[in-house]
Amino acid sequence: MQTKHLLGSGMLSWHPSERITGRYGTVSIFAKDLTGDVSDEPVDLAVHNLLGQYGQLIAVQDGNEHLLGIGALFTEEHIAGQMSVGVRPDNPMPDEEWLDSTVLEQLNGTIVEKSVELYFAQIESLSCEKCLALVIDNKVCDECGVALCKKCRYTDEDIVFCFGCFQERQREYQTEGD
Ligand SMILES: [Zn+2]
Ligand SMILES: [Zn+2]
Repeated sequence: MQTKHLLGSGMLSWHPSERITGRYGTVSIFAKDLTGDVSDEPVDLAVHNLLGQYGQLIAVQDGNEHLLGIGALFTEEHIAGQMSVGVRPDNPMPDEEWLDSTVLEQLNGTIVEKSVELYFAQIESLSCEKCLALVIDNKVCDECGVALCKKCRYTDEDIVFCFGCFQERQREYQTEGD
């Protein structure tokens, strides 16, 4: 079972540099006071024991869960003393969006003027059979069931194989071809 940790609640927003670079790596939460005014400074999020853990960053708005991204939880300060939080994917590509920018825009506090609850849900990751790295997406060989990280796995039409089972499959194809 997944444990969801509430990191904070308020208006979801992010530093302009995230849009400019296209990374969309972090978000911040801005509290609303009793009169409805939104603070200029983001709240400190309850990330203490969770930093570096793998899991899902989830925002809940009007009771609906939205998955923002999957990876290792980290914090950053775009402005000194102001906390942004994100999840770093496994081996991110230079032009990869770390969080789902389409979902972020739907929840953008300055536009929709609604609060979210921001959660982090840890994922129990399997270890790669070959190199012991965490297998973030928990993919296993379709034939023999061993867990394999992205670097150590072989894929054929989105099916994951270990090296041995992949070779076996290639051989079967060749035999069928004869
Ligand atoms: Zn591996
Ligand atoms: Zn296998």
